[in-house]
Amino acid sequence: FADSAMYKAKDEGRDNFQFYSSDMTDKALELILMEANLRQALEKNEFIIYFQPITNAKTNRLVGLESLIRWMHPEKGLIPPDKFIPLAEETGLIIPIDQWVMKQAMLQVVDWYKEGLNPGLLSLNMSSLQLKGDEFIPFIEDLLKSTNCNPEWIQIEITESQIMKKPEEAISILNQVSALGITLAIDDFGTGFSSLSQLKRLPIDKLKIDRSFVKELPNDEEDVAISKAIIALAKTLDLHLIAEGAETIEQVNFLMNHGCDYIQGYYFSKPLPQKEMREYIIKHSQQIIENTKNFVI
Ligand code: C2E
Ligand code: MG
Ligand code: MG
Ligand code: MG
Repeated sequence: FADSAMYKAKDEGRDNFQFYSSDMTDKALELILMEANLRQALEKNEFIIYFQPITNAKTNRLVGLESLIRWMHPEKGLIPPDKFIPLAEETGLIIPIDQWVMKQAMLQVVDWYKEGLNPGLLSLNMSSLQLKGDEFIPFIEDLLKSTNCNPEWIQIEITESQIMKKPEEAISILNQVSALGITLAIDDFGTGFSSLSQLKRLPIDKLKIDRSFVKELPNDEEDVAISKAIIALAKTLDLHLIAEGAETIEQVNFLMNHGCDYIQGYYFSKPLPQKEMREYIIKHSQQIIENTKNFVI
């Protein structure tokens, strides 16, 4: 017994030694701690979802909303996604986190429909880690069933750079997602170096022009040229467009004048917590119409 206890202590000692050894950088240690925090946050239900309206600028009506996660930290307060999503991606925790967001957001939207409200298309962010393996399709099918959510109410967004990491896997899974009746959009478009031939092969319906190109409109010549080129590209490939990050009337007018009518940005609204989003829907949505397809952009 004494021997085995000693061995155990030795083993633990070795583990401890390895844990603190010099090849373990501070960053790695911080990563481990942060990962534990994130995991706990999920267990303790500390995440919340905000929704940002997407507007048809021509009619000023709400056409959809994007779900955006925040971390309600008991001490630090509201933490924006940019502060923890990259770590969640590195550690793989992004998968349960995104699945949590998808479920909560679907439940919310189904509730709004049940109330007779029309939130439009619900846009969900998806990490490329979900594109690996064969778990995502059964997951999303089960979720649609268990939440009573119509696939035509849903749009999934994935960034251009994430798709380009593994284009072949992406094409295969996205084809299956699309076959379920879910709309697909490329997020942060213009920042991920996809080639036209790759773009043509993707089963996508929509491009979201990255905020970085909208920011300096209409004054920055390069951004004017880039956004015009993206709009032309979308027309050629028969894709719908949403511009992200419009904050001023000048930006909205520029985008509309050049053929991009769907806008998500502070000019219309910042991301809102659930209660305020409900008020926003009541004020700005189109009437419920029989065929949901008519208002799905
Ligand atoms: P994104 O998907 O491109 O979302 C748009 C971001 O731009 C949001 O930031 C939104 O608040 C911000 N934005 C929209 N309009 C404006 C504007 O007019 N001005 C400015 N300055 N910003 C604007 P947020 O909510 O901080 O999210 C940042 C990113 O975090 C998202 O970028 C997305 O990549 C990621 N993210 C958020 N929620 C989730 C999630 O549930 N899952 C995953 N995988 N990623 C998420
Ligand atoms: Mg997004
Ligand atoms: Mg974006
Ligand atoms: Mg982004």
